[in-house]
Amino acid sequence: MEPYEKICELYRRIESKTAAALPGPYKVGVDLGTADIVLVVTDSNGMPVAGSMRWASVVKDGLVVDFRGAINIVAELRAEVETIMGVKLDKGATAVPPGTVGRNAQACSHVIAGAGLEPVCQVDEPVAAAKVLQIKDGIVVDIGGGTTGIAVLKNGELVFTADEPTGGTHVSLVLAGAYHISFEEAEKMKQDSRRHREITPVIMPVIEKMATIVKDMLTGFDGYAEYPVYVVGGTAYLSGFAGAFSKAFGRQVEVPPHPLLVTPLGIALFG
Ligand code: ATP
Repeated sequence: MEPYEKICELYRRIESKTAAALPGPYKVGVDLGTADIVLVVTDSNGMPVAGSMRWASVVKDGLVVDFRGAINIVAELRAEVETIMGVKLDKGATAVPPGTVGRNAQACSHVIAGAGLEPVCQVDEPVAAAKVLQIKDGIVVDIGGGTTGIAVLKNGELVFTADEPTGGTHVSLVLAGAYHISFEEAEKMKQDSRRHREITPVIMPVIEKMATIVKDMLTGFDGYAEYPVYVVGGTAYLSGFAGAFSKAFGRQVEVPPHPLLVTPLGIALFG
């Protein structure tokens, strides 16, 4: 199965709350995000088996701020997926934004351990996405809720990662300010594709800022001008995002289907 088909298959499994009839052993990945927590299970070949996700605010800018809340949600997702699959899950991988170190990085592993999953591996978020997309020479930009991270891969090896605290949350804050509405209402407005045309001029400066951040991160690196650039993360759901980002970035970028699920699927591949 091609990478994009796998992402679509994972989406279908999450939406339908069903499991693929694939034999174990299974790999588990947990993405503790600023906006969402996603748990994904694949078989040993990386084929999506099942998954579940929950809107959550237990992580801010890549850092776990509500430890107990995060454990509870991961435990719920684990129980939900175990019921769907009819098997027990006992270990899993996690990921952090590039540059997260020390106790902040360890917190993610402690969360999944608290939820009954022995942590087996912790990767950089854009590296996980790059694995799904099978990138040998290319650039992955991960724009989630709180952060914009990048990973540059050369000959299949990670040669550069970086991360900045700007993401979809900032898009929602700008909308909340412009329309004099609450953050929650702004989130709803942003996720309603029927309103994307109307909100595009308002949020354009934020998308331009994200593109500038990525451009600055890559300044001084020669030889990557021809590398394909993929943008993943929930913010890339915005209609017209690829075009607007490409224009500000000065290079054509590609957005895979269901961009929010690429990193979570990739984390499971390390499980
Ligand atoms: P981070 O990686 O920064 O910690 P995260 O893992 O929670 O955050 P994602 O799950 O990739 O990030 O994306 C979450 C962001 O995507 C949120 O800001 C959310 O509002 C936005 N988002 C989700 N769905 C849509 C949609 N349909 N349209 C626009 N934005 C969306």
